[in-house]
Amino acid sequence: MIAKFWAVEKVNSTLLSLPPCPFCGNSYVELISSLDHKWFYITCCEELGGCGAVTKICFSMEEAVDKWVRRDGELMRGNGNKD
Ligand SMILES: [Zn+2]
Repeated sequence: MIAKFWAVEKVNSTLLSLPPCPFCGNSYVELISSLDHKWFYITCCEELGGCGAVTKICFSMEEAVDKWVRRDGELMRGNGNKD
């Protein structure tokens, strides 16, 4: 039996007024949260051509969005980055 652990919402960054990925420019940004909404992170969607850049785990959606928007040291490059 596989426990259903992830609640995944795929959203376009424009819907959340997020800027596109700072590393590859992809506008398909994935907001991922635990099923109980206790933690969140945002990632550049590799399935839709992104590089997989990802924020650290955050404990509110607002915090995750803040890390994505500010693009400080809390945002890590993904494996698919080409430069
Ligand atoms: Zn990217």
